[in-house]
Amino acid sequence: MVNAMTVDVEDWFQVQAYAGVFPRERWEDLPRRVEANTDAFLQMFAEAGVKATFFTLGWVADRHAALVRRIVAQGHELASHGYWHRLAHEQDVAAFREDVGRARRVLEDVGGVAVRGYRAPTFSINKRNKWAFEALADEGYLYSSSVFPIRHDLYGMPDAPRFVHLVGAGRLTEIPMTTVRLCGRNLPCSGGGYFRLFPYWLFRAGLRRFNAEGRSPGVFYTHPWEIDAGQPRVREAPLMARFRHRVNLGLTRGRIVRLLQDFAWDRMDRVFGL
Ligand SMILES: [Zn+2]
Repeated sequence: MVNAMTVDVEDWFQVQAYAGVFPRERWEDLPRRVEANTDAFLQMFAEAGVKATFFTLGWVADRHAALVRRIVAQGHELASHGYWHRLAHEQDVAAFREDVGRARRVLEDVGGVAVRGYRAPTFSINKRNKWAFEALADEGYLYSSSVFPIRHDLYGMPDAPRFVHLVGAGRLTEIPMTTVRLCGRNLPCSGGGYFRLFPYWLFRAGLRRFNAEGRSPGVFYTHPWEIDAGQPRVREAPLMARFRHRVNLGLTRGRIVRLLQDFAWDRMDRVFGL
């Protein structure tokens, strides 16, 4: 079973956890670390012989064109994380379309390739804003990987299908984050904060179990800032947000190297035949 390796390309100050501290007007003045951290991922993938999908912010592509071109030149899939990292469910249809359409155009201009995949910031498509799927199809996207079928305080659609399925009146493919079933509940097994919080062997066992179900390849997601223990500390952010953002940052690079060896990986469009 070959699973999909994905990276959401955004900088440390653009995350939802710090949204109250760093409004978008301040982004231009903050020290950028996204290019160096994404290059570290490119290096890890090259050493492991793995191709991945990079869901990249339009904002980042506008400022780091050379990075986007390196991603493409090294054989990875370029995909979209929106332009401004705005939550889908905090926008109306027109604003959402504007954001995802702009991101696709910027990425295609800079990268010189077609961009067909989208991941919503913080998995912000849920049962109240399913209109987003049709909006994505209207803006030229072919697939989305935006639904986390779990119960969580900030996101999630716990009763959504766990496997790849059609959405948006059949015009878009949704590839949900990976979950394992335990005691009648979906537990996350897809990366991000959970991958950093729990021991590596537990994650590996979960993904092996998902693969053994044999119904679908798994999806792993990570971010450039998740391997960057040297990023600035943000004392103004709420304690819980800080904990979630920073837990085990120093361990993550080594875990990802192990993950690249323990499973087979490829870019999302190829894994799911899109
Ligand atoms: Zn994001």
